[in-house]
Amino acid sequence: MGPTPRSNGWEVNALTDGSLGPYRIEITLNEKKLNRGALDIARTIIHELIHAEIIRANDLVEGASWDPDFQVNYEKYRNNYGKDWPSHEYMAEHMVNKIANALRQVHPYLGLDEFRSNPEVLSVFPRNSIPSDFYKAMAWVGLDGTIEYDKNPSRDTYKKWHNDTVQKHPKPCN
Ligand SMILES: [Zn+2]
Repeated sequence: MGPTPRSNGWEVNALTDGSLGPYRIEITLNEKKLNRGALDIARTIIHELIHAEIIRANDLVEGASWDPDFQVNYEKYRNNYGKDWPSHEYMAEHMVNKIANALRQVHPYLGLDEFRSNPEVLSVFPRNSIPSDFYKAMAWVGLDGTIEYDKNPSRDTYKKWHNDTVQKHPKPCN
């Protein structure tokens, strides 16, 4: 936690800074944005860890932990999208299912039972019917603005699930 992280002038949940040297990558969580559900904080941390791993793999000209040919594949993104840092586009196309699986696995340790029985959550998902793509919906958060996100026909539903459940879930991180 540290000074309010900003990206292009906008206050963000967290920021990963790779400008400090090849062996120092800093993730700053916005202390004003920790008043969210534990699963949402976990989502932010996983998202930032992927940024950090992309930075590390680029700086050291190495494969990423999930792709030994990362360097070559990432270069394609730079060319396709015509920008230096297409990390959200890359994540939107390659990492959503991985993020979703990580969140599904960690949720039981972050108050899944309370989550299921929370009245506000129940008003969104009656009778504990958490949809099978719920964690995928959470994984998309932060990737809006990418072409893949805009193409996703479920994006409004996903955003609503996020806003109405984990974002204001009363179990905070402690
Ligand atoms: Zn990001």
